[in-house]
Amino acid sequence: MNKEEMMENVNLAVKVCKKCRLHSGALNAVPGEGNTSSEIVFIGEAPGRTEDETGRPFVGRAGKLLEQSLSDIGLSRKDVWIGNIVKHRPPENRDPLPDEITACEKFLAYQLRIISPVLVVTLGRFAMNYFYPEGRITHDRGTLLRTKNFNVYPVYHPAAALRNPEMMRGFVEDFKRIPQILDLIKKGDKNIPVQTDQQIDDGQLVLGL
Ligand code: SF4
Repeated sequence: MNKEEMMENVNLAVKVCKKCRLHSGALNAVPGEGNTSSEIVFIGEAPGRTEDETGRPFVGRAGKLLEQSLSDIGLSRKDVWIGNIVKHRPPENRDPLPDEITACEKFLAYQLRIISPVLVVTLGRFAMNYFYPEGRITHDRGTLLRTKNFNVYPVYHPAAALRNPEMMRGFVEDFKRIPQILDLIKKGDKNIPVQTDQQIDDGQLVLGL
């Protein structure tokens, strides 16, 4: 099986998943999408309203800002992979609960194993704390971390940037550094702070994989 076929299997498993309560209030699963050979993946918290309606990640106003920011560094959506930690929309956009994350995280773990990205860009506090629980977004955004076996670069969530001009400045500034961060990693920078050696549980997944 090639990467696309493996990812399609994960996506199909997500679409029929009922492992937590979130599926019952959602219109569509949002497994994630993009280039399964990308060096960079973008990970948010959970689908919002527009994502729930369309089954696609980051397609509302926040998605437009993400697309514009990608364009500013010479990339487009189809060059990268974009997904979320949980795959169904939590009611009223509340934060996912710990048992929902536990139920869902094998999907993301498997997706990341398929893609094997050089850099994971986390979008917002919640996604950063998934990879780096001790982190504070105002302090750690724009910092390259080595955590859970990934190179992780936290930035503000684009939706938060749209609400707050100061966060927008930080988001734009951090986003523009992504190519430079990628270069640093490829050159084998030894100064990347290691935050934890805990790995994401990508044990036994799913459905004929
Ligand atoms: S959020 Fe994840 S674990 Fe919960 S039903 Fe959806 S795919 Fe399954």
